[in-house]
Amino acid sequence: MKKEPVKVREVPAEIRVGNFEEVMKGYSEEEALLEASRCLQCKDPVCISGCPVGIDIKKFIYHITQNDYRAAYFTIREKNNFPSICGRVCPAEYQCCKTCILTKKDAPFASEGAINIHFLERFVGDYGKNNNLDVPVEKEEKFSKFKVAVVGSGPAGLCCAGELARKGIKVDIFESLHKTGGVLRYGIPPFRLPWDVLDFEINYLKKLGVNFITNFLVGKAKTVGDLFSQGYANIFLGLGAGVPSFLGIKGENLCNIYSANEFLTRVNLMLAYKFPEFHTPVNIGKNVLIVGGGNTAMDAARVALRLQKLKGYPLNTTIIYRRTEVQMPARRLEIEHAKEEGIKFEFLVQPKEFIGDDQGFVRKLICLRSKLGEPDSSGRRRPIVIEGSEFEMNCDLSVIAVGLKANQILINATPELKTDKYSDVIVDAETMESSIKGVFAGGDIVGGEGTVIEAMGMAKKAAQSIIGKLSKK
Ligand SMILES: Cc1cc2nc3c(=O)[nH]c(=O)nc-3n(C[C@H](O)[C@H](O)[C@H](O)COP(=O)(O)OP(=O)(O)OC[C@H]3O[C@@H](n4cnc5c(N)ncnc54)[C@H](O)[C@@H]3O)c2cc1C
Ligand code: SF4
Repeated sequence: MKKEPVKVREVPAEIRVGNFEEVMKGYSEEEALLEASRCLQCKDPVCISGCPVGIDIKKFIYHITQNDYRAAYFTIREKNNFPSICGRVCPAEYQCCKTCILTKKDAPFASEGAINIHFLERFVGDYGKNNNLDVPVEKEEKFSKFKVAVVGSGPAGLCCAGELARKGIKVDIFESLHKTGGVLRYGIPPFRLPWDVLDFEINYLKKLGVNFITNFLVGKAKTVGDLFSQGYANIFLGLGAGVPSFLGIKGENLCNIYSANEFLTRVNLMLAYKFPEFHTPVNIGKNVLIVGGGNTAMDAARVALRLQKLKGYPLNTTIIYRRTEVQMPARRLEIEHAKEEGIKFEFLVQPKEFIGDDQGFVRKLICLRSKLGEPDSSGRRRPIVIEGSEFEMNCDLSVIAVGLKANQILINATPELKTDKYSDVIVDAETMESSIKGVFAGGDIVGGEGTVIEAMGMAKKAAQSIIGKLSKK
């Protein structure tokens, strides 16, 4: 008989909205074994092609079925440095699970019926973490004379640093914020990715000898040229895409309209939900409107809802999205979680104008209804405004989550660094080397907003190129 996918235990919605604790509990050993037993061990495992770093999924799942979690862990670690992180945040339904042959062909949403590869990966990653399984270090004496500067401590920077340090190369990571982790710390809320999971990986890098220099903005404090003068043999840029896009509509500069980046950074990084115990405040409204349909919008909405609960307000947070639910780019799981928690959705709706009061605070959003037209350049059907469909929504706080652009400070300070029309760094696709010899780049600063595992895949490629270069010196 065909076995159904094993569900992951979760904290019930009515409890979890009152705190920032992790929502997903992960598989127990028994559940992981049951889910792994669904894998058909295909002769041609196409799921591997769906993983941006090509993890040998068939093999690691086979090891689980044999109760050999250690072997499963090392199989994943051959390709992925942070399985506990990816097992929690990978949009697997658009990656590995999408290509699993058990995926139902006619299902409305991606990857229904597929093996829950990401949940199994999390189980194995957590096993490795809980049992302190360190990947063997292959330090080579010839590399010990080199040092490399990594700019940015998001998944790209961390992954590149790890690869280099394991070879014995000295690595300094420069991070502009006071804490490391990039979006993994300031963007993704702890109820999706707990800090101890991230800190475990960062501490592992510290054990390897990686040196973290925080509160250091490269491009202002020091230039790329300065770093070379200080003796760094190569530089890796993992700057990310931290500049928010806006709607460009009237009233968008009223008080209590945040970019998702600011809102999430205040809450996740600066712990504003514990104000005044922590110094950074955040405003919260009774009628919260979140604009957007990606992971950032889902995170902002779920954070806003928790803030309403903590403040004792009725739960009233709505996501406005200009297409339909099927086209939402957010992970399916996040959409489901948001719905369970009581977040409302207004699909096929576009914001037209924010209206404020005489103190300059937002009070209403005028919206327009839309319908889907022909596909646009992204392949998704274009939303078309319906004439005369204008309506108002009450709004005393709004968060705009409609996309992110490249961080510019270092780029502006480095005119020799070639960028494309989106200001993303141009690199050689094979080596990840930029227009400046010895400067490599990867992650969201190359090709725009992507995923954690894609950022790590690029960083790993860049690290291999750096190692190759240094081994010839
Ligand atoms: C809210 C949110 C939720 C997301 N959810 C998911 C998800 O569920 N799954 C998923 O796969 N992806 C998700 N993503 C996307 C994913 O987080 C990114 O693709 C990934 O973090 C990119 O990694 P990165 O290392 O390139 O950049 P980042 O994570 O952005 O890290 C860049 C780092 O560089 C630092 N920096 C920038 N410029 C300088 C400078 N000049 N000097 C020093 N330091 C500098 C920044 O402060 C930052 O810490 C999400 C993104 C956001 C914003
Ligand atoms: S890293 Fe992500 S895409 Fe790759 S196998 Fe794991 S969950 Fe799937």
